[in-house]
Amino acid sequence: MSISPDFGFVGRLCLDLTVTGDMGYGTRYERLISPTELQRWLSISPLRLANIRVGPADVEDAKALRGAIWRVVGAVLAGGAPAPPDVRLINRVGREPALMRELHPGAESMRWYRPTAAAALATIAQDAVVLLGEPTQRVRIHRCENPRCRVVFYDDSRPGLRRWCAPNRCGDRIRAKLYRERHRIGDGTTPENE
Ligand SMILES: [Zn+2]
Repeated sequence: MSISPDFGFVGRLCLDLTVTGDMGYGTRYERLISPTELQRWLSISPLRLANIRVGPADVEDAKALRGAIWRVVGAVLAGGAPAPPDVRLINRVGREPALMRELHPGAESMRWYRPTAAAALATIAQDAVVLLGEPTQRVRIHRCENPRCRVVFYDDSRPGLRRWCAPNRCGDRIRAKLYRERHRIGDGTTPENE
């Protein structure tokens, strides 16, 4: 996960959406607090959707899709069965017309063709369909091993052994904690209960 006081990104579009809030915390860490914030997320997300129109209904739709993806991914990680309504919601959103690209006149670059927030959500839902439905991608869904972090990320490392949402965030914290514990146990003092 990229470190920033701003939105976090975990290397996969549909999982990027899941870290914008809720994650079982309810509204405590909600980041999609307004259409403007969803618009900003879309602009800095891998979709790079600048200046599209976003309304309150789009925010609600985004949160509904986010919740469904979060719960299905959580069920998969727990080895359980996802709730059918969540799967249906992902499929329903994913069946809508998704974003389309087109070439600039000089064919040297491309842009989105008439992008909308609804099309962006369809694209995100399709990303979830592929992530969950493709066995080689599904095994790369991991939850951060920091027990105080709930982030689910996509492990695109070649061996697929990534353990932290961000090596220089949770990884460093856990390594530092283990170091302190070893050190203090050697000292005869109690490990810090972090
Ligand atoms: Zn983490």
